[in-house]
Amino acid sequence: MKIVKENNKETENKTITNLLLNEADILVVSYNRKGEVTYISPVAERLIGYKSRKLLRNRWWDLTFFSKEESKLFKDKITETISGEREFNPKPYQRKLKCENEKEKWIEWRDSLSENKIVSVGIDITYWKKKEALKIQSDKILENVNSLIMVSNNKDEIIFSSPSIKKMLGYEVEEVMGDKWWDVTYDNKQEAVKTKEAINNYVNFNIKNFVDISKRKIKARNGEYKWIEWHISKGENDTYISVGTDITDRILTDIELKKAKESAEESLKVKNEFLANMSHEIRTPLNAIIGFTDLLLETKLTSEQKLHLETMQNSGEILLSLINDVLDLSKLESGKLETEVIPFNLHKQLNEVVRLMKIKAREKNISLNLEIDKNTPKQVIGDPTRLGQILLNLIGNAIKFTNKGSVTVSVKQLKESTNSTTVFFEIKDTGIGIVSNKINTVFGAFTQAKSDTSRIYGGTGLGLTIVKKLVSLLNGQITVESKFGKGSIFKFTLPLQKGSNKITVEEHDEELSMDKPLNLDVLLVDDNKTNQLLGKTRLERWGCNVDLANNGIEGVKKTQQKLYDVILMDIQMPIMDGYEATKIIKNDISEQVSKIPVIAMTAYTSKNDIKRAINAGMDDYIFKPFKPTEVYKLLKKYGKINEESNKAPEVIEKQLKFEPKKYINLKFIREETMNESSILALLIESFINDIDEFLEILDKGFKSKNWKLLHEATHKIKPSIRMFGISKLDQIIHDLVNRFREEKQLNNIDKRINLCNEILKDVKIELLTELKLLKNEQ
Ligand code: ADP
Repeated sequence: MKIVKENNKETENKTITNLLLNEADILVVSYNRKGEVTYISPVAERLIGYKSRKLLRNRWWDLTFFSKEESKLFKDKITETISGEREFNPKPYQRKLKCENEKEKWIEWRDSLSENKIVSVGIDITYWKKKEALKIQSDKILENVNSLIMVSNNKDEIIFSSPSIKKMLGYEVEEVMGDKWWDVTYDNKQEAVKTKEAINNYVNFNIKNFVDISKRKIKARNGEYKWIEWHISKGENDTYISVGTDITDRILTDIELKKAKESAEESLKVKNEFLANMSHEIRTPLNAIIGFTDLLLETKLTSEQKLHLETMQNSGEILLSLINDVLDLSKLESGKLETEVIPFNLHKQLNEVVRLMKIKAREKNISLNLEIDKNTPKQVIGDPTRLGQILLNLIGNAIKFTNKGSVTVSVKQLKESTNSTTVFFEIKDTGIGIVSNKINTVFGAFTQAKSDTSRIYGGTGLGLTIVKKLVSLLNGQITVESKFGKGSIFKFTLPLQKGSNKITVEEHDEELSMDKPLNLDVLLVDDNKTNQLLGKTRLERWGCNVDLANNGIEGVKKTQQKLYDVILMDIQMPIMDGYEATKIIKNDISEQVSKIPVIAMTAYTSKNDIKRAINAGMDDYIFKPFKPTEVYKLLKKYGKINEESNKAPEVIEKQLKFEPKKYINLKFIREETMNESSILALLIESFINDIDEFLEILDKGFKSKNWKLLHEATHKIKPSIRMFGISKLDQIIHDLVNRFREEKQLNNIDKRINLCNEILKDVKIELLTELKLLKNEQ
């Protein structure tokens, strides 16, 4: 029985050995004391391509090693270990075998030493070796890339980070694993939570949150912040992969650039505001100088006095045109110069400009010719004022820089379509010309072709800069050609719309004589005493009766006492400006008073100001400095209206509709101040300031949707609204405060804001009137 069992065991062992040696990928090699291979398992053929018997003896060393040196070293190790010269080392080792097809196979070997022989068992590890090599490679890449690669699980814990984190943020990988990432790189826990949420929404539902997860500020180990741009994508098994790139430099440059741009814009704005204010300040006294010079010139004078005055007049006009140039330039630079699009007669405009310039040409004894090609359209739509300005400048220069010969203005149509036309203008002179190396600079600001130009010919070098900017504002192009000593040609094109012949009524300019007296009752409202005197003297020369008012309120009061033929109204005045005064005159006094023509006197040429003037009910406007002829023309025009409308006696038949106190009720505040008018006046003044400030914030805050600011402002003004008894506004303000605070029900808020705005403007007028009365009382 026992024998049978043993036989069975033997058979089993044999089977297993057979299986291991023939079927499994296990190589068995046996070496003798000479280092020769005495056995090699048949698997060799499958693994390395050689039949096992082909590798016996020394063929093993010749065929399976890549280099002779290596094979020698190995063989030595075998022989010396068997002979006992070298200590046996049982540790596994790896060696690659050279296959029959010259490729390599990695085998992990384990030796065993028995008497006079070594048996080595090898397992094929080529697959793992390749994997390992790849891993080493990718680790190297991850270490060296400039990006940070991280993998997070569905709990937003970091489960992998590329070693590049050290280079990018200074952390060791272990320091950011798990939830630590959120603790160390975010200062604010809430922000970390919000970001996690946003990432989750993005990864799982593709929802883009308002939190920008693509660019985030991350705290580095040294406490500095880095801007990282992230690309997030879904990974395996509910993970997501974030690839981050350091964009700190880019962001900082952007911020710097933005700052630089803002500061450049700010300084341009400051410059332009300064220029606008300065030129306004200079223009006011200058207008007086020119105006009084005009007046003096109309009196009896000796020829010497006349000459001196004419020089003064001339200098004043040069100074004025310089200031206008500077102002135009600053408006052009800040994009604030408005253009008109109105129908006009091009031929007439050209004739007009040339007629004006003929006087100058005649003074210099040169001829000025105008050639209009017969194809040039007459009725066009565009900006006649700006075209005039361009032509006056170019023709003015041509005359200025020509001492003998002629200046020729030629105009023709370049191309046309059904609705539009492009007109070509050429101004050619036979003057001093421009040296070739200066020709490209003449359009630059404050540049003149020669350094002595200003001394000999005057000018500042702004004219052509403005011309060039105007031409391009009107979508045209300008060029210059010139031969030094021979003359210059300035050419420009201008696209215009075609006008209909019916639209423009040909006005024929009657030569205006200002001899006929006007005999009108005029109210002149202006806070500037010099302007008052100038206007009064001028108007009285035309036989007018002039009453003066120093501000809007005085003006309003005067209209309550007398029915004037015309009111000349300055715009900017203290206490009550021209717009407000006109509104009251036109709406709140009587029907007859509302018909009195109100003419705005303004130094501003902005379309918005004119629009505002017309909206306030003004009938016409006139720009300072006035040309006597223009004032005369306007007065004649509006004087006529009243001649026709049967001037009534100086009694106002209708009850005054003007109620100074529609909104305010001063009962409470009078009691509080014990009717002390000086304190009351102070309180009113301060409330008026608050209203101005409030209206500004209301406008600004609404535009920028800054509800917090609006809440603060409405909240602040609320007690004053109560104190001044403005019950109509009480509820509205209360309601606004709530809506702004809650940031709710903001849909139609503009209507409430407008209403509040309107009421407060009227409140201001009422307060100003009250203030004026109080000041009289004091
Ligand atoms: P300004 O006339 O005030 O000096 P502009 O900007 O109008 O300034 O002109 C710049 C310069 O271009 C002039 O100073 C002059 O040197 C040159 N220039 C302009 N027009 C002519 C012209 N028709 N002939 C010769 N030179 C000219």
